[in-house]
Amino acid sequence: MKTICVLAGLCLLPSGLLYGQNLLLSESYTPQPRVVTPASCERPVAAPSDAIVLFDGSDLSAWTHADGTPARWEVADGVLTVTPKTGSIQTRAEFEDFQLHVEWSSPKEVKGEDQLRGNSGVILQGRYEVQILDSYDNQTYVNGQAGSIYKQYPPLVNAMQKPGEWNTFDIIFTAPRFKADGSLHSPAYITVLHNGVLIQNHSTVLGITNLTLPEYKAHGRGPIVLQDHGDLVRFRNIWIREL
Ligand code: MG
Repeated sequence: MKTICVLAGLCLLPSGLLYGQNLLLSESYTPQPRVVTPASCERPVAAPSDAIVLFDGSDLSAWTHADGTPARWEVADGVLTVTPKTGSIQTRAEFEDFQLHVEWSSPKEVKGEDQLRGNSGVILQGRYEVQILDSYDNQTYVNGQAGSIYKQYPPLVNAMQKPGEWNTFDIIFTAPRFKADGSLHSPAYITVLHNGVLIQNHSTVLGITNLTLPEYKAHGRGPIVLQDHGDLVRFRNIWIREL
């Protein structure tokens, strides 16, 4: 009877939790997501009329570093490039539920491998990372490749463009909700299209992205963060629609 109770208790856990924790512990390199060749994304996707434009190629007035100082990443020819060692940048504005469009490109000159090739990230509410990586012909642990919810879920497929070409992320985010006592009421959900291909389908976020096990801590609205991971990842055409 006792065993049955224990098993019943385990069954009450969300299946994603067990699945996610197994992946977290294993950093599995298999099975690698199937490769899908996307259509070209060289043409920018302009913001719709009700979007908040976060970067249109002109300046970084919407962005700061974590300490509040103006963002010091390079802007040239309408393109934003990570300036290594300046630190990640984040929007001045904070958001709850949203649709986010980001165009990004891993360096054309291929250097490094695994996690050390074209690494950056789009970190939602400053806590939940959708990984940016050069995952073109570059194997890494599956929950760490481009379009993964870092350390939690691999992408459904690998829809990566070649190095130097433009990729799009269209991210639909539902923020977590917390009870008055700070405990979790409902988790965050993330859907991602990479170059128009569905790679995260309403994935249940297991908690804040970190290098051990994810956990939730109560919070309110948060910024969009672009990660400085030391690689010369480029960005353009970033806009958001609040939901
Ligand atoms: Mg990253």
